Amino acid sequence: MEDILSKYQPVIGLEVHAQLLTNSKVFCADRNEYGGVPNTHVSAISLGHPGTLPMLNKKVIEFAVKLGLACQSEITREMNFARKNYFYADLPKGYQITQDKTPICVGGKIDIKTDDGGKTIGITRIHIEEDAGKSIHDQDPYDTLVDLNRAGVPLLEIVSEPDIRSSQEAYDYLTEVRKLVRYLEICDGNMEEGSMRCDANISVMLKGAEKFGDRVEVKNMNSIRNVQRAIEHEIKRQVELIEAGGTVDQDTRTFDAVTGSTASMRSKEAAHDYRYFPEPDLQPIFVSQEYIDEVENNLPPLPNDLIKKYTSELQLNEYDARVLTDSKPIALYFEALIAHTNNYKAAANMVMGDVKSYLNQHAVGIESFPVAAKQLAELIALTDEGKISKSVASQKVFPAMIEAPDQSPLSIAESNNWIQNSDEDSIGDLVKQVMAENPEEVQRYKEGSKNLIGFFMGQVMKLSRGSADPKAANQLVRKMLEEENV
Ligand code: ADP
Ligand code: MG
Repeated sequence: MEDILSKYQPVIGLEVHAQLLTNSKVFCADRNEYGGVPNTHVSAISLGHPGTLPMLNKKVIEFAVKLGLACQSEITREMNFARKNYFYADLPKGYQITQDKTPICVGGKIDIKTDDGGKTIGITRIHIEEDAGKSIHDQDPYDTLVDLNRAGVPLLEIVSEPDIRSSQEAYDYLTEVRKLVRYLEICDGNMEEGSMRCDANISVMLKGAEKFGDRVEVKNMNSIRNVQRAIEHEIKRQVELIEAGGTVDQDTRTFDAVTGSTASMRSKEAAHDYRYFPEPDLQPIFVSQEYIDEVENNLPPLPNDLIKKYTSELQLNEYDARVLTDSKPIALYFEALIAHTNNYKAAANMVMGDVKSYLNQHAVGIESFPVAAKQLAELIALTDEGKISKSVASQKVFPAMIEAPDQSPLSIAESNNWIQNSDEDSIGDLVKQVMAENPEEVQRYKEGSKNLIGFFMGQVMKLSRGSADPKAANQLVRKMLEEENV
């Protein structure tokens, strides 16, 4: 099978729906809130009663422009809304208000990281539309229930070019999209709750072919991993079909997470004819250059900007930069930390090591991390000044700071006698004592067994009960062993 699969080139384009984190819905004042008691956020407008008029929520334009700027799309300056007509129980108006000919963002790109470097996935368009209600099939044995709380919730639909070539690239692309909407704070990116959804368009063609194969569209994947699984399954299914002499039906399919397979929902013959036409109840929207500039000036730092800053200005490696920017709250904590220390590598190690293991152990986010960035920076300074060793910092002072976040690391270290001894005289005394107690080893060292340095170091550290500064001790041990007069 692997042999046969390798003859084919998969082609994938993704449509992502992102529910926006506005307070109210896109065309009325109903609350936009996940998980409310069913059918409680439903005014006459959400219900599509005759004679009601929609009015656009300005915040939705701002969120769309933010995303468009982050993807380097062109922002449409004059746009209209359209009606997409179809009948469904969870769509009380009989049409969905969306954008057809004038999407708010045109073009653009998302950069993904791949095994062999990077790759750019083109964005075709980003448009605004309203969500439909929710049909619930699993709560009543006979009937489908309808919850219209979601009807009219604002969505951005992000349509990619068919630039994706593997299920892994699809995974990486979705991870980037989710990171971006979270950094912009326009969508919580939660695929499990359906606030970010993805339809995957998948086709295969023989490698080297010029024309793309016929595609199917797969829906209902509730995690990025499941999008990847659905694509893997589809690629295999389509290749097997073609190899057996068949053709791929351009149908819409649904993914079953239990079996990992897809099944047809509707075929091309039953494809919708949406009969788009201009929405007569909404005015055209004009977006001025001043408005775009203002949104741009207020954009938060984006992951790729931070990665660039960390690898160039801070001289961190690419891997560290990526880990530190995976989530915005972590990145913001790191930003706060480097405002108080210039030892960027130590700061990165601290966040990726001690801080992250604390968060993992306690299954909490950085918002619940008790130690302020400024205090943590002082811990780094203590280590840099040689007052405590790295292992004391991480194994003793750090846990103590979590217990007493108000105390400075210096006072914690002092009151526990963790300040290490770097005073030449007192360490010198220890070295002398060790050498006096081990004359044979001293002799062998002088005769050339230079690796005995480790033995002497061990003895000195033991005598000091770990409080000697290893760097100072190491220098003194070498110096005194070289000198005759001990
Ligand atoms: P529709 O509105 O019917 O869903 P679109 O033209 O908007 O059609 O395309 C939807 C998605 O399908 C886009 O993400 C696009 O990149 C992708 N796509 C188009 N052709 C192919 C193909 N042959 N194979 C895989 N994906 C494709
Ligand atoms: Mg589609």
